[in-house]
Amino acid sequence: MDPVSQQQIIDAFRGATKSEIKRVTFPADFDDLDFGKLEYLGWRDRKIPRRAYVAVPTTGPDGAELVTVILTQAEKKPAAKAMCSWCRDVNITSQAVLYTVRRGGAAGRKGDTIGMLVCEDFSCAANARKLPPAFHKGTDVEMIREQNLADLRTRVNGFVAEVLSTEE
Ligand SMILES: [Zn+2]
Repeated sequence: MDPVSQQQIIDAFRGATKSEIKRVTFPADFDDLDFGKLEYLGWRDRKIPRRAYVAVPTTGPDGAELVTVILTQAEKKPAAKAMCSWCRDVNITSQAVLYTVRRGGAAGRKGDTIGMLVCEDFSCAANARKLPPAFHKGTDVEMIREQNLADLRTRVNGFVAEVLSTEE
């Protein structure tokens, strides 16, 4: 994704209240982030338990638009090792946990949420860049990686589109 500033991320919040946005704590290493190696930026709030955020460069009918949403980690962790629904990392390098996000508009204000299993530490981009553990000679590994990244972008974009689909 293209580099974004903290202000751009703040301005891109959807479905969040002013007081929620005011309490956002950015990652300590924000200035060192390599956006070129990220398909989206996800991080956990160091000061608020179970609170996390994702900032996603979406591609809609009006072109590219950054969208930031608040995620809440479910209290219960999945009993078994779960696969992330975004990067679908079969090696389960990072544990996927259940995050919920408020739907857009009136539905969200009524408490309507969407849940999905996502890498607890939002390491999808790194996982998707990993190559398959075994591949045949002559396999175009770069093509596999490109496909993985395209799939990841598609899934995260689809998630954001679903969250915003109830906005009025
Ligand atoms: Zn993931």
